[in-house]
Amino acid sequence: MDKKLDSAPCGYIVFTKDGHIKEVNETMCTMLSVTKIQLHKKHLHDIISKASRIYFQTYFTPLLMMHEEVKEMYLTFVTPDNVELPTLVNAYLKEEEIVCAVLQMKVRDEYEQEILVEKKNAERIMQETDKAYKQLQGLLQEFEKKRKELTLLNGELEQLSITDSLTGLYNRRYIESRLEDFLEEARNNRVPFGVLMIDIDHFKVVNDRFGHQAGDEVLKELAGVLSSGVRSDDVIGRLGGEEFLILLGSAGKEEAVETGERLCRLAADKVWKSPAVTISVGVSVYEKGDSKLDLLEKADKALYKSKAEGRNRSTCQGVL
Ligand code: GH3
Ligand code: MG
Ligand code: MG
Repeated sequence: MDKKLDSAPCGYIVFTKDGHIKEVNETMCTMLSVTKIQLHKKHLHDIISKASRIYFQTYFTPLLMMHEEVKEMYLTFVTPDNVELPTLVNAYLKEEEIVCAVLQMKVRDEYEQEILVEKKNAERIMQETDKAYKQLQGLLQEFEKKRKELTLLNGELEQLSITDSLTGLYNRRYIESRLEDFLEEARNNRVPFGVLMIDIDHFKVVNDRFGHQAGDEVLKELAGVLSSGVRSDDVIGRLGGEEFLILLGSAGKEEAVETGERLCRLAADKVWKSPAVTISVGVSVYEKGDSKLDLLEKADKALYKSKAEGRNRSTCQGVL
C-alpha cells in the first residue's frame, strides 16, 4: 500500500461484495486498536456493531450496488474490547470491490452526547420550573383567598367593635366618636345638629315584674322603635343600661324637638310584644362654642326635666 495512503488522516478499508476484508490502512488499524494481521481474512461484520450490520445489509450494500457509491453513511465500528466507534463512511464500488474512507466522529459524537445531556437537563429544568410555577400559582390563589377572607373578617370585627351586642345599635364608644365628627362639621361648616338622650321609664319595674330577660327583649324592641322613628343617616347608639343616644344630622332645634316628641309617641302608642314601656327624651342642639360634654350635659339635664315633669315626654334644653 502506498505509504501516504497508509498514514492518511482517515481510515481506508477495502472489502469484497460479500464483506470479506481485503485491505486496511494503518490509520484504520489504529482506530480499531488492531494490527493488519489481526484483520486478515476477517469479515466486515466482525468489526461493526450489530445495528450497523443490519444497516449495512439492508441499506448500505443495496444502495452501493444501485449507485456504485454511497456518501456520508453512519457506521459504528467495534474494537476487540467492545469500544464503539461511530464513523462517517464514503464508499465506492471498484472492480467488484468496495473501497471505503472512514472518518471517526469522536469529537462530534462527544459533542452530540453533551448536547443531548444539556437538552435533557434543560427539559428537566423546564419541567421543574413549570411545576414550581404551578405551585406558585396555587399559593397565590390561596393567598388571595385568605386575603379576601381576612378583609371580610376585618370588616366583621370592625362592625363588632362598634356594635352593641344586645340591640345591634352602635355602642357608646362609637357614638361618642361620631359626636366628635358632628361637632367638627358644625364648627367648620356651621351645620346644625341635635342630640337626643333617651331613657326608658320605670325600667326597673319591668325587670322586677317580668324578669331580666323580658327587660332585654324590651331593649331590643325599643331599638327597632327608635330606628324606625329617625332618618337612615341619623346615628343611634346605646349608651348602656336602658339609655340611648341619637345624633340628628343637619337638624335644627325645631326638628330635634319634633323628633324627640315623635319617638315618645311611637313608644307610647306601640303595641309591644314584650312588656310595654314609655320613654323620656332630653334634647340638646349644638350652639356655638359647645363641647361634647356641654351637649351631653344639656341633653342629660333636659332628660332629668322630662322625668321630673312626669315622664313619657321630650324636653329641650338650651337657647330658644
Ligand atoms: P326612671 O323612669 O327614673 O328611669 O326609672 P328606671 O327604673 O328606669 O331607672 P333606674 O335607674 O332606677 O333603673 C334602671 C334599671 O335598668 C335597673 C337595671 O336593672 C336595668 N338595666 C340596666 N341595664 C340593663 C340590661 O342590659 N338589661 C336589663 N334587662 N335591665 C337593665
Ligand atoms: Mg337610666
Ligand atoms: Mg329609666
